[in-house]
Amino acid sequence: MSRKFEPRPGFTMQAYQFALEPTETQAEALRSHCGAQRKAYNWGLARVKANLGQREAERSYEVPEDQLTPPLNWSAYSFRRDWNQIKDEVAPWWAENSKEAYASGLANLADALGNWNASRKGQRNGLKVRFPRFTSAKRSTWSCTFTTGAFGLSTTDRRHVRLPRIGAVRTGESTRKLARRIEADTARILKATVSHRRGRWYVSFQAEVRRDQPQPATVGGTVGADLGVKSLAVLSTGETVPNPKHLDAAQRELRVLQRRASRRWIPGRKPDEQSRRWHQAQDRIRRLHSYVANARQEGLHQLSTRLTTDFDSIVIEDLNVAGMLRSHTLSRSIADVGMGELRRQITYKTSWNGRHLVVADRWYPSSKTCSSCGVVKAKLRMRDRTFRCDNDACGLVIDRDLNASYNLAGLAHEANTSSQSCGATENEPAGNPGKTSLAGVGYRHGKTAPDGAAKAA
Ligand SMILES: [Zn+2]
Repeated sequence: MSRKFEPRPGFTMQAYQFALEPTETQAEALRSHCGAQRKAYNWGLARVKANLGQREAERSYEVPEDQLTPPLNWSAYSFRRDWNQIKDEVAPWWAENSKEAYASGLANLADALGNWNASRKGQRNGLKVRFPRFTSAKRSTWSCTFTTGAFGLSTTDRRHVRLPRIGAVRTGESTRKLARRIEADTARILKATVSHRRGRWYVSFQAEVRRDQPQPATVGGTVGADLGVKSLAVLSTGETVPNPKHLDAAQRELRVLQRRASRRWIPGRKPDEQSRRWHQAQDRIRRLHSYVANARQEGLHQLSTRLTTDFDSIVIEDLNVAGMLRSHTLSRSIADVGMGELRRQITYKTSWNGRHLVVADRWYPSSKTCSSCGVVKAKLRMRDRTFRCDNDACGLVIDRDLNASYNLAGLAHEANTSSQSCGATENEPAGNPGKTSLAGVGYRHGKTAPDGAAKAA
């Protein structure tokens, strides 16, 4: 069973996230719900593992396949049914939490098993999905999803949200961006997920939102954006969009803090037993992480908004982010730039704003092709920052990324005339952004390259 909601025509799915400021009692209830979610998940996973182990053992005694212990049904529905029969026994305190907490854990388990199964059978793109592991309070993200019950924004003010069982929780910021849409009847909340990350509680409302009529592009025309490693992006307008500055500075500070924390770490003691000074350093590290993540997200949103507001067509390259993250030399910068996230944003914003997104195929040699004469270089190393055309009659010398962005912009024109033969694909204007969540991993557009196909750098 899939929990993904398909929006109605003319609507898109959008998440609205707010930081929470729960009271101590509410924080306790939030922890309890996340614990309940985890309990149900781990209970279900233990059953699945026991069942798989039993069948494996029987096979080793050469029990015929049709006489093996029957396999468990891995659907969320089936997990819930079994849970309801046994919950008095395994979690006699179950009534303390909303039943949604348990349903959320079991639905996550069903999804995780489904993803693993699809990945194993080669029906899923991206990195190989591991078999689900038990979650622990220390290692895993605390979260809990509500799909039914009384949740949403407060009807009386814009600083509270309502959650089942937990009540009205104060938010760290105004909820107006969503409240206005709900009042205007252009948004409907479908589910709410609470989570605890980097020392804070958050709620994320998944809403079905009616998009506004697209405005005409302010600049118009086509822009090729080469998402870079050294800079965030290079545009075919000649503009270089730098990486967020605060990122480098904050990361240097982070390394200093991490060294400080490790000096204060007393070996042989558990984190709870460490000194007050170590905990102080940890708190600062957590806050800095939070700052870096928010600032980066903000920078990416500014860029993607600007591209999709200013231009009619945006051409980007289909980089194999999942593959690139595996190579250690580049992984750091690419993770920093949040390339997958930027692609995801450009993708849904082009569909909101009525723009065209053209994604060049992964093997299209945008960097190696001369943007002036079209001759493709035999070799261009990653460290060559300048493109020099091999064709003596042309002799173009140009910044590597700018050359690539010209080539990408050129692809848009080809895509408009014959989309089959040019090595590029256009997005569907009414694409569902909900389908392409998680940044970069396993996410691609258009034609699919055979696995292991080299990226044309
Ligand atoms: Zn040339």
